[in-house]
Amino acid sequence: MARVGFIGLGNMGGPMALNLVKAGHDVQVFDLSPTALETLAQAGATVAASAADAVANVDFVVSMLPADKHVIGLYLGEQGIVDAIPKSALVIDSSTISAEAARELAAGITAQGRRFIDAPVSGGVGGAKAGTLTFICGGEAADIEEARTVLEHMGKNVFKAGAHGAGQVAKICNNMLLAVLMAGTSEALQLGRAHGLDAKVLSDIMLQSSGRNWTLEVYNPCPGVLEGVPSSNDYNGGFLVDLMLKDLGLAQSTAATSASATPMGDMAAKLFAEHSEAGFGSKDFSSIFRKFEK
Ligand code: NAD
Repeated sequence: MARVGFIGLGNMGGPMALNLVKAGHDVQVFDLSPTALETLAQAGATVAASAADAVANVDFVVSMLPADKHVIGLYLGEQGIVDAIPKSALVIDSSTISAEAARELAAGITAQGRRFIDAPVSGGVGGAKAGTLTFICGGEAADIEEARTVLEHMGKNVFKAGAHGAGQVAKICNNMLLAVLMAGTSEALQLGRAHGLDAKVLSDIMLQSSGRNWTLEVYNPCPGVLEGVPSSNDYNGGFLVDLMLKDLGLAQSTAATSASATPMGDMAAKLFAEHSEAGFGSKDFSSIFRKFEK
């Protein structure tokens, strides 16, 4: 079993670190929130007094923080912790951040003689709790293989997308497509309903036709069509509109760096921004369905 320093114990990081403890790893944790630390301490993790303490004498460092500035600040800012990380350790950042920031981290961390991979996740809070996340990694193949020692206790799939930053690019390509599919599926279902069709019947028809897609099949945005999904629970739980908006912003900035045309992604970003402003920021992203209601 490995010694792991885990930083960022929020909605995702908390259950991920918990799964590492359950698997028998020796986990040292740090977060700015005392409540988050308490939960992990009760589960058997060692609470560190600082991020630098959490990464002392470990084999792996895992970070799961909100955005670019938190991750860059942690590793490369004034209080940068790279010096405190053993030279033999592998740094795994699973936060969703820009590919640019991931490359900056890779350059800064490797310049100080440590190894780094970006390993953002797909699967949400449910996947983090169940240990079924998909890790989408960028970096050296040997490092990604080594990371499986811990990633396989938090997830079911580990993909190598390419070099440093490629994990983040693949992740936001997926989420941009997901936003487009969710908006399009919602629009089509509302059009059918406006013409008197039953949403369940229309869903069944489209599932056997060429409009079939993941949002229609397992995450249907129309209340009552599927059980156990956010749309049948007043759009609570799941993947928040504001988090989707963050990922669409990352998709747009990534597209800008390569002068790529992403008109569908841009439209999805506009729709989700309006939806958030209308008060749905903390609802599941399938609530975009409500935007197309007559
Ligand atoms: P969260 O806000 O619940 O948790 C972030 C945690 O980081 C908090 O506990 C906060 O106290 C801690 N933190 C912030 N700065 C810190 C610092 N300098 N040192 C130590 N701890 C610090 O966020 P989350 O939902 O867990 O998301 C984490 C990342 O995972 C984000 O990048 C998000 O985009 C990504 N993600 C989230 C989901 C989801 O469904 N929530 C799904 C996939 C990916």
